[in-house]
Amino acid sequence: MALFVQKFGGTSVADATRMREVANQVKHTRARGDDVVLVVSAMGKETDQLLRLADEVSHTQPGREMDMLITAGERKSIALMCMALHDMGIPADSFTGSQAGFLTDTNHRNAKILEVNPYRIRETVDAGRVAVVAGAQGVSTDNNVTFLGRGGSDTTAVALAHGLGADACELFTDVSGVFTTDPRVCPTARKIPRISFDELLEMTAVGCPKPVMRSVEVARAYQVPLHVRSAFTWEPGTWVVEQEPDMEKAIISAVVPDTSQAKVTVVHVPDKPGVAANLFRLLANDNVNVDMIVQNVSEAGHTDISFTVPREQLATSDEVTSRYASEIGADTVSTDDSIGRVSVVGAGMASNPGVAATMFETLSNNGINIEMISTSAIRISCVVAEAQIDAATVALHDAFELDRG
Ligand code: ASP
Ligand code: MG
Repeated sequence: MALFVQKFGGTSVADATRMREVANQVKHTRARGDDVVLVVSAMGKETDQLLRLADEVSHTQPGREMDMLITAGERKSIALMCMALHDMGIPADSFTGSQAGFLTDTNHRNAKILEVNPYRIRETVDAGRVAVVAGAQGVSTDNNVTFLGRGGSDTTAVALAHGLGADACELFTDVSGVFTTDPRVCPTARKIPRISFDELLEMTAVGCPKPVMRSVEVARAYQVPLHVRSAFTWEPGTWVVEQEPDMEKAIISAVVPDTSQAKVTVVHVPDKPGVAANLFRLLANDNVNVDMIVQNVSEAGHTDISFTVPREQLATSDEVTSRYASEIGADTVSTDDSIGRVSVVGAGMASNPGVAATMFETLSNNGINIEMISTSAIRISCVVAEAQIDAATVALHDAFELDRG
């Protein structure tokens, strides 16, 4: 008899029918002899609606009240889900994040989990009941309700699975698993049956939207096996596990397209110690999350620096960089928000030469110019024009034969 923590996202509990389908699935799991703890998100687009309401009512939006508001979405879901379970004869109790033992820091709207003490959940499971826990919430060290941030329910589920010593954490969602690339871009994309924490972490860092990166980080840190799967077809999805020594390491596991970044370039920067340090410290002070950085070879004591930032931070980045550029007598600052980043990820890359060459050749054969490059031990990313991102993705998926099982 195993214990599963199962998380259901917004679309999976969007209405009464969906709630009953989830309840029905819980019934099957219990009939098999396994125990279930559920984590649920707010129904459908409820979180967005609550945020819109706040926009209509308030300019100041105090963090404490925002979190009280947003967490109401999940609170509705847990109560309704328990009612659906009761109707099927399954004993179930709902728990807010606080009741479930989630202690967080005081950073409203994006709180970090400090501790999980799920003794009430454990008692509920031991009593043969289903615990239904509100996702993405907790209580802070100063006793206020906190929200863990958008997509935080994944993190709740993984942290709870660890806290309970569950056998696995299953993330039920509207996609049927992790794919070799975005199936909307590339029709030959395949579902990956098994992938390592490291690979999925790299993928989420460069634009793979699900599951949220934080949850993969927690899963990896505590070795919680993750199963990403569909709440619509109920078919097996993708298992995310520690890389076993005998697990064959695919050279390339996935190609990840991403159009969420923009590029900033500052030209004719004095090439002397402290310039990059100052620029990136100023950006960090404004909470800009810089990703790829390229500095040119210097010419006559001057150089160019380009870097990428999330598009929504482009205006701030431009402002900060322009101010600093004029301070140090650099020339122009230019920005480009029509870039795309395409990444190839694979644990086998670390021990196989030639991946970069194949990637660059493939892009070049398709007439795609590379603007920036960055690498990790198991990833290579290239910045290309946004208009070419789909073509680049398909060509790379093909070149690395990811369409073949
Ligand atoms: N409902 C919240 C959101 O949409 C939390 C979650 O779904 O994980 O961000
Ligand atoms: Mg959600």
